[in-house]
Amino acid sequence: MSRVYNFSAGPAVLPEEVLKEAQADLLDYKGCGMSVMEMSHRSSMFDDIIKAAEKDIRTLLNIPDNYKVLFLQGGAYQQFAAIPMNMMNKHHKAGYILTGQWATKAWKEAKIYGDAVALASSEDKTYSYIPDCSDLPITDDMDYVYICQNNTIYGTEYWELPNTKGVDLVADVSSCFLSKPMDVSKYAVMYGGVQKNVGPAGLVIDIIRDDLITDEVYPGTPTMLKWKTQADKDSLFNTPNCWAIYMCGLVFKWLLKNGGLEAMEKKNAEKARILYDFLDQSKLFKGTVEKKDRSVMNVPFVTGDKDMDAKFVAEAKAAGLENIKGHRTVGGMRASIYNAMPKAGVEKLVEFMADFEKKNLK
Ligand SMILES: *Cc1c(COP(=O)(O)O)cnc(C)c1O
Repeated sequence: MSRVYNFSAGPAVLPEEVLKEAQADLLDYKGCGMSVMEMSHRSSMFDDIIKAAEKDIRTLLNIPDNYKVLFLQGGAYQQFAAIPMNMMNKHHKAGYILTGQWATKAWKEAKIYGDAVALASSEDKTYSYIPDCSDLPITDDMDYVYICQNNTIYGTEYWELPNTKGVDLVADVSSCFLSKPMDVSKYAVMYGGVQKNVGPAGLVIDIIRDDLITDEVYPGTPTMLKWKTQADKDSLFNTPNCWAIYMCGLVFKWLLKNGGLEAMEKKNAEKARILYDFLDQSKLFKGTVEKKDRSVMNVPFVTGDKDMDAKFVAEAKAAGLENIKGHRTVGGMRASIYNAMPKAGVEKLVEFMADFEKKNLK
């Protein structure tokens, strides 16, 4: 068996220790004679799993007591609809900051349910920067302001939250979830699909301030999309994604054991520095994002020559550096260096890039 360095944007690399633990548990979970995939979601065994997962994510993010944690299905994408359905209930209006495809998709979905206003956009420069969010045209008749905090495709990240002028902030944190400490109390809702930085696909975690969990939802909201349905049953209204919740629980324990999110932030900053430092001195490769807005998780870069990019991707793959091809809408390369990517993986990538540069720079 040999494992590659997997730079996929998602589903993405998981900690090897966690995979081994899941493997050891697979046939007989803690002496119960069955796997987590086979047990009832109403069993005491599973109850322990989901309760421990919630407790551990609360510890990791220091989640205040007045926030509910929900383990849901339908991906981040389904929350693009659930957010306006549950939150556009006072003025039927919200503001969206358009920093890439995911924010734009969320904005378009919200327009189905109410007045979704574009507050700012960085589309003019292919979303290569975060707009100035210090004085946006936010009005107090907006039910919330929405951001995508880390832009997986374009490789930008908010280093400062927008000034929302007192309006509730909603953030899609899919690709930076648990990558560093975040102050949950600054958000009304923080949510993310776990398949980027946390666990396997098929689970989205919502952290919602409890006053936002109400019966006042958009008329016709499906039972399953009403946050209150899920909150009243502690995410067990129907069968949840038991396996993904279990896997996330193992990752939470791995994070706690390895120093929590402060330690993760340091490791992630170090990995990103190694890669960006190389890009900044390279004569062949260059980063595509404004320096001040660079993401610690997703690092896009190009050579400026499509054929050279393709050659690089192919040779990197042959060298055990997988899934380095950029998003189909951007081209070039993208290295996603999530929590579970070891520093050695980034060092190997940079070494490989330096070598490639030497051979291919005319
Ligand atoms: C991947 C991604 C999504 C979409 O997630 P799904 O779970 O596939 O719906 C949304 N937002 C961001 C920031 C992402 O990276």
